[in-house]
Amino acid sequence: MLYTSTRNNKIRVSAAQAIAQGISEEGGLFVPVEIPQFSLDKINSMVSMSYIDRAKTVLREFLTDFSEDELDYCVNGAYAKEKFSSPKIAPTVNIDGSKNILELWHGPTCAFKDMALQLLPYLMTVSAKKTADGKTIVILVATSGDTGKAALEGFKDVEHTKILVFYPVDGVSPMQKLQMTTQEGGNVAVCAINGNFDDAQSAVKSIFTNSDIKAQLAEKNMMFSSANSINWGRLVPQIVYYFSTYCDMLEAGRISLGDKINIVVPTGNFGNILAGYYAKKMGLPIKTLVCASNTNNVLTDFLETGTYNKNRAFYATTSPSMDILISSNLERLLYHMSGDDDTLVSDLMAKLNSDGVYTVPENLREAIQAEFAAGYTDEAEVDKTIREHFEKYHYLCDTHTAVAVKVYDDYLDKTGDSTPTVIDSTASPYKFSKSVLNAIESGNVPKLDEFEMVDELHKVSGADIPVSLAQLKNKNVRFTDVCNKEDMSEMVFKLLNL
Ligand SMILES: *Cc1c(COP(=O)(O)O)cnc(C)c1O
Repeated sequence: MLYTSTRNNKIRVSAAQAIAQGISEEGGLFVPVEIPQFSLDKINSMVSMSYIDRAKTVLREFLTDFSEDELDYCVNGAYAKEKFSSPKIAPTVNIDGSKNILELWHGPTCAFKDMALQLLPYLMTVSAKKTADGKTIVILVATSGDTGKAALEGFKDVEHTKILVFYPVDGVSPMQKLQMTTQEGGNVAVCAINGNFDDAQSAVKSIFTNSDIKAQLAEKNMMFSSANSINWGRLVPQIVYYFSTYCDMLEAGRISLGDKINIVVPTGNFGNILAGYYAKKMGLPIKTLVCASNTNNVLTDFLETGTYNKNRAFYATTSPSMDILISSNLERLLYHMSGDDDTLVSDLMAKLNSDGVYTVPENLREAIQAEFAAGYTDEAEVDKTIREHFEKYHYLCDTHTAVAVKVYDDYLDKTGDSTPTVIDSTASPYKFSKSVLNAIESGNVPKLDEFEMVDELHKVSGADIPVSLAQLKNKNVRFTDVCNKEDMSEMVFKLLNL
């Protein structure tokens, strides 16, 4: 299995190279040259497997340059039972007979990012041994809240790695901020930036591709890589849980082998839903991928009209991990769906960079619309959805999951599409206690600090408080730096002591 770049498809690299490097030289994203195919029989054979074995079955096809021992080492380490609060790792919960919720937040940082970021450090260190022997890998992360913490936790004290995380100073929840600023480990640093997630992501991307900075790092025997979903090593672990949920649905008798399902994904950077697209292309029976957005509905508009336009107001919402106007992974979708047209993708991305807007050719738009549906919702509806689902089913969802639930309800009303459906649940409600409490108490929440809020939510809902969040109360804040986005590269040098 080889990988190429969305902006130059003459490039060929191994999985290890794609993962160690993170992003292609010319700024394109690495994509598999061919998509492995899974027959229904093969899918059926995965039903009786543990999550770990399902993961190996999928990953083996993409990481053909990893030995079976290396694969075991990576996957067994990442999804060790003691790291997850559910023995199923990613359980599928049925809440009202028809809604199947895929809970992706049972990992150590209580967001779905753990599903990939527990594995990525293993993939990265094995890849670096193969391709960049002896170099220290410097992971640069731009985060809208959850990636930062999940990456810090995954890479903490991993040998031959350093990790630097940038987050928008006013763009994350209090709990997300505490999770990051109290991070332990000798190879970690965290810095807030005056700007939003897109500013952080653009700056990180340009630091990555800046040859001066890269040369200076090389002198110190270091190289950059990425833990954002621009890295193939972040995306590939996410394909696994779509196969896993299908197997769980089969096992529970909610579908029969070969039945199609719909998948609804609360979307930001388009990584999670793209993993669903790969699963579909591999042969998993998926009918429609429903892309759910909050008021930052740039993807809803794109999927409806074929025009991507980031020149619009940016809203800080109660689902901050989806407050994104530049969805990086859309680039991979455009590449695959245009028939590997790297020239088209390069042109579109250049337009996005210079004008903030591009329009895809009509046949490409139609092809995309045949695979994807889209919708968005606002914060009042998110609150109502959380409250109603709690009252009716005693099921507590976080703000991001609620976006997906509401968009699915709207989709169902509009289309009457009764295909069995899985909705991705991407965070523990306790990561966003204030917003969730506010929703179920209809705005009547007394003034409480973050941890009192957590306790209050527990009192009201009875849902278990994740241990890792409860423990934050006693940790010291280690990182208080704030910088301007123009000064991020300087900050990188400072944090690396160069
Ligand atoms: C990152 C994140 C999302 C968005 O996922 P993408 O892969 O960026 O589309 C949604 N919900 C939560 C809680 C997240 O952390």
